[in-house]
Amino acid sequence: MAGQVHATVEGVLVMIGFGSIGRGVLPLIERHIGFDRAQFTVIEPSGEFAHLLQERGIRHLQVALTAENFADVLRGLFPEGKGMIVNLSVDVDSIELMKLAQEMGVQYIDTVVEPWPGFYFGSDLPNAERTNYPLRERVRELGKAYVGGPTAVSCCGANPGMVSWLLKEALLRLAADTGVPADPKSREDWAGLMQRLGVKGIHIAERDTQVSARAKPPGVFVNTWSVDGLLSEGYQPAELGWGTHEKKLPPKGHAFDHGPAHAIWIDRPGADTRVRSWCPDVGPQYGLVITHNEALSIPDYYTVRDGDRAVYRPTCHYAYHPCNDAVLSLYEANGAGELPKAQHILTAEEIVAGGDDLGVFLYGHAKGAMWYGSRLSCAEARRLAPYQNATGMQVTSAVLAAMVWAAENPAQGFVEADEMDHARCLEVQRPYLGSVECHYTDWTPLAHRINRFAEDRDKDDPWQFINFLAV
Ligand code: NAD
Repeated sequence: MAGQVHATVEGVLVMIGFGSIGRGVLPLIERHIGFDRAQFTVIEPSGEFAHLLQERGIRHLQVALTAENFADVLRGLFPEGKGMIVNLSVDVDSIELMKLAQEMGVQYIDTVVEPWPGFYFGSDLPNAERTNYPLRERVRELGKAYVGGPTAVSCCGANPGMVSWLLKEALLRLAADTGVPADPKSREDWAGLMQRLGVKGIHIAERDTQVSARAKPPGVFVNTWSVDGLLSEGYQPAELGWGTHEKKLPPKGHAFDHGPAHAIWIDRPGADTRVRSWCPDVGPQYGLVITHNEALSIPDYYTVRDGDRAVYRPTCHYAYHPCNDAVLSLYEANGAGELPKAQHILTAEEIVAGGDDLGVFLYGHAKGAMWYGSRLSCAEARRLAPYQNATGMQVTSAVLAAMVWAAENPAQGFVEADEMDHARCLEVQRPYLGSVECHYTDWTPLAHRINRFAEDRDKDDPWQFINFLAV
């Protein structure tokens, strides 16, 4: 695919991590970003894919960043304090990197607020503190010290990331389809628009249908992206933005006792917490309430306040149906009660069918419910760029869009995807998203039961979280 260079990184470009996402971003950077090859370094402890860097004349620094060495390693790479860090690793503390990038005068992008090892597993912290809420609060707090500093984009992959841009398109579409005037410019305008549209909540609704021809070997955890990433977030507590329309907490649900308190957490792993949700390929389906930054940033961004009081806020969370092999892998891990000893990420070459539907499912408005998002097959992803499946491409193209936006807006300080120009970002990303579609449905979580069993349901309002939750 012919590439248009959208923006240029001036100075040094450093990518941290060369896993499934790092390898997929590389051809997109080569196509769409202007950069100096002699000043491009990839920090990656494994040598498995080093040949891809050697072939391209890109420097491979084979080292694992740690709390002890990261500052020296990175300061050594940015002697003139000019350039960009794209962090696509696991086990490297995002907050420490963001602070260092500000001190060095360097732009920064990541796809998740990642802590050093020891937070996700084997931690002494109470479960409330093992959520994403305190991680995000630390990022937001730190950002106050760097207003107008080098742009640092926090949590910008597909989700968190792209889904915040799709949500804005979805709101404009819903406004047009229901005759509601809309010309939002500020955060307050967007929040007011969502309130006027009567949106009660948003699922980040994903269905990954990618399959390999080979049956999943027992004991091997198989996924279409980072197994470590899925395990880490999957075994954090379930977490969601808590809408102002909600009447009661779910079983084991807890409010946060510090910060803006716009979210709740559930005292069970997200990877074992199911909700009823909806995606266009299959219609009604189960999704997992795996914690994600967008489940916190979106309800925060769309809160309408009267003084200090929140008068409107949507409920928001991930409802993720991973690929079949990952569903089976989670079932195995939950049953065994231990982390898998072997893992495998399905490559685009191994995948024989399927794709990824990833979008936003807006419910409770005048038209009932609407899914709006990207429907990308693995076959199309293979045609578009090498080294990635459909899931990877939805992430890597969002990282590309973040790089372009950061290069074009170099001094914005700390931002999340909700605060970026969604139209510009989607303009960059759209060629890699397959078909971007809008689907309305009259489905509600009270529809469809195979048999009658006792359930705690609210029949007066189908859009209560308690109705979505499948216990
Ligand atoms: P991966 O497991 O395939 O790769 C991670 C890479 O990090 C590996 O190459 C590993 O060697 C490297 N790494 C591990 N420890 C390191 C260290 N100490 N220093 C430097 N590098 C180190 O993961 P992936 O699928 O490429 O995902 C990368 C990151 O992106 C993960 O944090 C994941 O959670 C995140 N992600 C975000 C989204 C999103 O939509 N926001 C989607 C997918 C992945």
